[in-house]
Amino acid sequence: MTSSARLLIVGPQGSGKGTQGVRIASAFGIPVISTGDIFRANIKGGTELGKQVTSILDRGDLVPDELTSEIVRDRLSQEDAAHGFLLDGYPRNAVQVQHLEQFLSSRGEALDAVILLDVPREESIERLQLRAAEQGRSDDTAEAIAHRLDIYEHETAPILSTYSERGIVDRIDGTGELDEITERISAALDARGLRVTV
Ligand code: AMP
Repeated sequence: MTSSARLLIVGPQGSGKGTQGVRIASAFGIPVISTGDIFRANIKGGTELGKQVTSILDRGDLVPDELTSEIVRDRLSQEDAAHGFLLDGYPRNAVQVQHLEQFLSSRGEALDAVILLDVPREESIERLQLRAAEQGRSDDTAEAIAHRLDIYEHETAPILSTYSERGIVDRIDGTGELDEITERISAALDARGLRVTV
């Protein structure tokens, strides 16, 4: 059995939101929709979209909002997202929040919870540097890392106020063991009545 949940996970790059997002989504039986993964897959596959966004990702800049939102709307319209999804990396600024809200409300839907993974900036940088050494992601250079964290602080973190006003943000301590963090997220969702039924 799976449970329906419409979730968003937010946190600075290097907060572990990708890893936690996959764990939570698989527990709920819902797809993870990660815009970063979609862009990287297109770059790897050499598609038109990939060519269009390669240098943007390398610099750590944001892909234009309209293009990004269109990709997300298409993905959310697929069958497997009909009863729930976990968004990772989108929306990332106020315009994208508006696009998402318009789309979801046109379907009579809304986000159920926003998981905010809280990790100090120094720790995010350390984790990103480790990932750069291990995976060699082209946007994990020192410059691009600093730029992405700045965008997070100035454009992404402020979107949380919109969701906080609705009372749907769960701030989770993102430091410690992976399992502990997953437990904290599950407990917060459980408290909202969002629980996995097996
Ligand atoms: P991520 O894997 O979420 O860190 O995303 C990697 C890169 O993909 C970002 O640095 C941006 O260049 C691009 N990207 C991912 N999501 C978005 C988004 N919602 N809006 C614009 N660009 C994005």
